Amino acid sequence: MSTRPRFAADGVLRLSVEVALETDREPVLTGRVGEQTYDPFGRVASSDLLLVEEFARLDLSAARSLPAWYEQHGAVRVERSEAFDHDQLLPPRRGEYTPLWSPRLFRDPLRFIAAEQRSVAWHLDALARLSEHLLADGPWDPAWAHPPLDIGRSHATIAGPDGPAADPAWWAEDDASEQTSRAHHRKRTRLRLLAGLGDGPGSLMELQRRLISPYLFGVADYHLRLGWTEADAEPTDMAQRGPLVVQYTRSWATLLTPVYVQILEGLRRISESERGGAFCRECGRPFLVLDARRAYFCNDRERYRNAARLRRQRLGATRSAVEE
Ligand SMILES: [Zn+2]
Repeated sequence: MSTRPRFAADGVLRLSVEVALETDREPVLTGRVGEQTYDPFGRVASSDLLLVEEFARLDLSAARSLPAWYEQHGAVRVERSEAFDHDQLLPPRRGEYTPLWSPRLFRDPLRFIAAEQRSVAWHLDALARLSEHLLADGPWDPAWAHPPLDIGRSHATIAGPDGPAADPAWWAEDDASEQTSRAHHRKRTRLRLLAGLGDGPGSLMELQRRLISPYLFGVADYHLRLGWTEADAEPTDMAQRGPLVVQYTRSWATLLTPVYVQILEGLRRISESERGGAFCRECGRPFLVLDARRAYFCNDRERYRNAARLRRQRLGATRSAVEE
């Protein structure tokens, strides 16, 4: 049963180290992106979920457990997303990327992690709704295509309860009153992000495509290394060093990269008339469907739980039938 996306499935995610929770002014996770990597496309051992679902369900209110979670799964690295330019919907400027092999400190305020989490959860929800509607005659609510968006100078996230209201008028507003440079950039981002969008499933998919794109710049970059087969040999010793080898690896420093690669695969499947997401029949939460064979439960645990519950119900029914 494959859980791997078709694109960038060979990428690995770097774990974070020395993660601490600071609570001086507001809760912030600090730490460093380490050298150790793992495969982010397998199932997370502790939850049997895909990384995208694991992150979407992470309990941010349990702040003290977050450093350990970061060390086991990788960091969000909010500062990377803050570096997004308002032109990120176009190709980025050259030199924007942090070389992935350099040690990198991060500083992630919890409220920004929450904004990224809301966005990821919203994408999962949208993929499940689209799949239900397009492939299983499920309902459609035009409001689903108009989520409350928090559009910054750099990139857009799904707004929280304190953000701009999910007001239909907001989508039609023209921002004529906004004069400052910051507001000007926001307006440009917004116009580009929302141009031509209606409220049908086709528009929702296009909105997702536009929201996903900035997270995927740089995903295809490889880190190239030239070396000799015998790394420990004297590099000038032709007899000992062996043939020249070329190694290239993709390693990512933010978990948002593999998470958005997973979301992309879900959206790609829907665009190909395959199911890309579903709501779990046991817990009701949305999950990603990368393979048609796993389309009812978010993990095996939920499948067993559901089967056990149905069995109990059947037994109960049989027993009451016997008692009658
Ligand atoms: Zn479930």
